[in-house]
Amino acid sequence: MGNVVVILFPERPPIPYLLLSNLFNNRIFSVKIELLRQQKLLPRGKRLLSLNIFLDPQRINRVGGHLSHGQSLTLDQKHPMLLPSRHILTRLLIRSFHERHFHAGPLLVLSLLGQKYWFVNGRSIVRQEIHNCTLCKRLRAQP
Ligand SMILES: [Zn+2]
Repeated sequence: MGNVVVILFPERPPIPYLLLSNLFNNRIFSVKIELLRQQKLLPRGKRLLSLNIFLDPQRINRVGGHLSHGQSLTLDQKHPMLLPSRHILTRLLIRSFHERHFHAGPLLVLSLLGQKYWFVNGRSIVRQEIHNCTLCKRLRAQP
C-alpha cells in the first residue's frame, strides 16, 4: 500500500483509492507499452519507448534511466510512476496539485508532480489543465 495517494480537493470529496490504483495499474496502458516494445504499435509512442519503462513488483509502470545511481533518492524520485497523459485521473491529479498549492502556475505544478510522476508532454498537459481552471480563468478575466 506504499503508493496510496490521497487527493484532497478543498470542496470536493477525495478521489477513491480504487480509482487511483486503477490509474497506476492501468492495463490498457501497460498493453500499449508492451506493443510498443514489440514494435507493433507505431509511431506516436516513440517517446515512451525511450523512457526504459519497467514494471515494479506492484505492477506500476515506472520510468527507468538516468537518475538510478543516486543513493539518497527515494524510489519515486529515481523512478517516477509513468501515467497516461490523456487519462482523466492524470488530469485530476494535476488539478489537485494546482489547487492544493493555491492555484500554482504550470512550472511549479510540473516540478511538484515530477517528484513522483511522469507523463509524456507533461509541460503542455499541465498548462492546458491549469488554463481550464475556472477560478484562474475568473481571476484572469478581471480588469
Ligand atoms: Zn486555478
